[in-house]
Amino acid sequence: MHELYSEVTPLTGSLLYHWVVCSRSAWLYSRQITPDRDHGDLSLGRWIAKTAYPRKEAREVSLPGAKIDVLDTDGGTVIVVEVKKSSRMVKGARLQVLFYLWRLKEHGISARGEIRVPKERKRLDVFLDGEGEAHLLASIRALGEVLARPSPPPAAWIPSCRSCAFLEFCWVDEPEDPAPETEDQAPEVQEA
Ligand code: SF4
Repeated sequence: MHELYSEVTPLTGSLLYHWVVCSRSAWLYSRQITPDRDHGDLSLGRWIAKTAYPRKEAREVSLPGAKIDVLDTDGGTVIVVEVKKSSRMVKGARLQVLFYLWRLKEHGISARGEIRVPKERKRLDVFLDGEGEAHLLASIRALGEVLARPSPPPAAWIPSCRSCAFLEFCWVDEPEDPAPETEDQAPEVQEA
């Protein structure tokens, strides 16, 4: 087992994505505390991924810790595709794709990544270069520290709470003068 894997729970690309949005939600998911699957945002995400790529089931790939939306090819190059409903959380999506590329690299498969946002007709390239790998490994370490805690980080309102399926569980109140929703709350990590 790689030294960067958590001893508490298996690390997944999805946990990395959630950690960027809110470390508390990553901790909750890591303990199998999951929100209502019918929450509007979660249902919308599933619907977009399914309708944008109706044949994707045939190309879906699962590795330990990695459920890749679509594994495509372009002239012999393997492409890991992550489908998102909005480009708002692209920082988390990039980390998720970097993790998948890293896992494939461990299996001897060289690939590049794409984040596709069908609703916005956007496509963003992701490469596991030196900077990307250093960022990923530093993020895995930081996430591992959060997951090793015996209890979740306390609930504190951030703009992402508005669309979070855990909102009722966390019971956080929106301040009267809230900041706009951005990814600014994403934790800064020191790269090795
Ligand atoms: S409701 Fe807010 S504090 Fe709670 S998990 Fe979601 S984003 Fe984090």
